[in-house]
Amino acid sequence: MEEFKKEKQRLYKIESEIEELKFNCLFEGCTGEAQKSHSQQKKGSLLAISNKNKEVYALDSNIARSYDVRTGNLSVQFRKKRIASASTFPGFCVKHEAIFSVFEKNGLEPFNDEHACYLSYRTVGYELARQRESKIRHEKLRFGKLRHDYLAYSIEKELTLLMKSLMSVIEKQSYDEIETIWHVVPRNLRVSCSSCISLYDGIAEEFYMQSNNGELPTFTFDVIPSKLETIIVITWLKKFDSYSKWLKDAKDNLSDFERLINRFIFFDSEDICIDPALFKGSKKIQDVVEQVSHVIDRRRIHEMEVPILIKVQ
Ligand SMILES: [Zn+2]
Repeated sequence: MEEFKKEKQRLYKIESEIEELKFNCLFEGCTGEAQKSHSQQKKGSLLAISNKNKEVYALDSNIARSYDVRTGNLSVQFRKKRIASASTFPGFCVKHEAIFSVFEKNGLEPFNDEHACYLSYRTVGYELARQRESKIRHEKLRFGKLRHDYLAYSIEKELTLLMKSLMSVIEKQSYDEIETIWHVVPRNLRVSCSSCISLYDGIAEEFYMQSNNGELPTFTFDVIPSKLETIIVITWLKKFDSYSKWLKDAKDNLSDFERLINRFIFFDSEDICIDPALFKGSKKIQDVVEQVSHVIDRRRIHEMEVPILIKVQ
């Protein structure tokens, strides 16, 4: 009993240490301090899905709360959070956060590749910020080595390289080096999401084991709701196009595409925010979220059937 209590206290202590850490800005070469900023816009998409108290449901990143010290199970749950604190990560300094005004100032414009590229860069940045925290957490917790090595690989061979490539596309304005899929739904889907997902149609960890330290092909996936419409955008580098057939095929068939969008939102993403009324009003959504509980073992996700929780047609 005492032993479990001590372990729980240790976890909370680690979480508060991580909370206090300072990180560098992720813009290449910048030594400025990263501010905790939003991967999803507070005044835009988060406001569009919040309740009157300006709250949304978001995944809890605190491992101390989600880790069962008795069974060793990790079960990450959704918690109601104020939009000021939901979905924030130490990614960029003030100066570099400002580059995203390209699409934030007047809103994201569908089918605008420059916007897609900036958004994708930010999405990768926040994923990297999350992984960087996660790696430190693993070191402190002394969890499994395999997961730790995978995080290091993902940071170096996936996200850092992807950010570099995307910034080079932005600087050269060579938008033919990216591929995008846009889908606009003419209503507020009441869910927002920002995520990096493997373009290798399998488990990213498996690719890592087989690829001999190769560059991981990854796409970014963003769901951006507003009062009247929701923009879904998927972006990847053209050099990864040989992995994208399954994604392009699904886009040609609306019901396949819908199932895939639901998979990305509810199964793959670790940065999703949900309108409290939608979350509380749907037993099905609560059940699925409970089942998935954003397991570390991604293999389980591929074994589960993806239900249609959000219609995108
Ligand atoms: Zn900076």
